[in-house]
Amino acid sequence: MSHNPQDVQFSTYGPERFAEHLPFARRGYLFTVPGGFPEDTPAHTNVTDWEMATYRARGEWEVRDINGERRVWGTGPSRRTAVGLAFQEIARKRRQRAKDIAEKRVTVLGLEPVPPYAVEVTGAVTLVLAPQAIGVLRLIQPGDYGQNAEYRVVDVDGGDPYDIRADNSVTLRTTQVGVFHDRCGHDPEDAARFENETDAVAYALQSMAMCWPCNVLDD
Ligand SMILES: [Zn+2]
Repeated sequence: MSHNPQDVQFSTYGPERFAEHLPFARRGYLFTVPGGFPEDTPAHTNVTDWEMATYRARGEWEVRDINGERRVWGTGPSRRTAVGLAFQEIARKRRQRAKDIAEKRVTVLGLEPVPPYAVEVTGAVTLVLAPQAIGVLRLIQPGDYGQNAEYRVVDVDGGDPYDIRADNSVTLRTTQVGVFHDRCGHDPEDAARFENETDAVAYALQSMAMCWPCNVLDD
């Protein structure tokens, strides 16, 4: 996902979008600020994506978040300026928050500034084991009313997809593979984070068939 404010996608909204007592104009534009923005904050401090609205108010453009404090994050003579300022202000607040989290981890909790271990799933495959065939799951099709679902599969060596109907004779086996990061400087967006090696290893053993050490330090 791009975190560049220049790539913001806008969609229009109309009078049905917000109740009248809310501080949004009746018409305007909606956009999203990704939870991972700005990219230089550690992934473990990411928040969920924020939905935002921008609209004309009092002769200029205003930007407000929809689900949180509903505060004004930016204003300006153009939509572009107002949105740009909102991104800047959100980045400032989030960097401050990331700094506060790091400080609190060290001074109050006695931890390292960021969790030292990260276990990242990098791939997964689900096998559909049926008496007549073994396939690699591509998607699950819900069955018609009263019917079992169907598993759309391909053979392990490829080929055209075909369907296996789910019943008691069919089982699914999911294999996950991943990477074990240990103070290597990587900051994967989607990873489970741990303060100590024991917990990280236990998690990796339980959730994955293979977990490779990240050996970036040896390179
Ligand atoms: Zn790594």
